[in-house]
Amino acid sequence: MRTLLRWAGENPKREGLVDTPARVVRSYEEFFTGYHLDPVELLSRSFEETDGYDEMVILRDIRLESHCEHHMVPIIGRAHIAYLPEGRVVGISKLARVLEIYAKRLQIQEKLTAQVANTLNDVLKPKGVAVVIEAGHQCMSTRGVHKPGVSMVTSRMLGAFRDDPSTRREFLAMISAPRGAFEG
Ligand SMILES: [Zn+2]
Repeated sequence: MRTLLRWAGENPKREGLVDTPARVVRSYEEFFTGYHLDPVELLSRSFEETDGYDEMVILRDIRLESHCEHHMVPIIGRAHIAYLPEGRVVGISKLARVLEIYAKRLQIQEKLTAQVANTLNDVLKPKGVAVVIEAGHQCMSTRGVHKPGVSMVTSRMLGAFRDDPSTRREFLAMISAPRGAFEG
């Protein structure tokens, strides 16, 4: 960090910057904590006592904070995650945590979307998984082409969400339904 500060034209020894390298390291530890966490292990506790619940489970508008691997600047957005259980369900917070574990690594949005969907599919073995991510990339808004207000949308549909048009339609309708009635 001191080298970068000097390269930018700064004096790393001046008062305001003395502790900056240490602060940046602590920030990085937070931004990239996902490398130390295992999403498969996280999902290993699932529940079978669902009284036969076999409809879609959707978590929508999950806050997403990640960093692009090309420029190391923030990707901020939201994700919608759904699955169609096959006997087993997981605690809903686990869906958000899987996203977080992959998001707290250097990413491209396409890969992040696929990783979340593939992991849920591999571990839960549900009838299907759908992941949609909408996000703004600061490497597009604060540098380069300078286009703020643009969001990138990626999706990965597996199983029934890929093969059954009515399942896919139901999911897309649910994530675009009006907000506000139920959010705590
Ligand atoms: Zn970038």
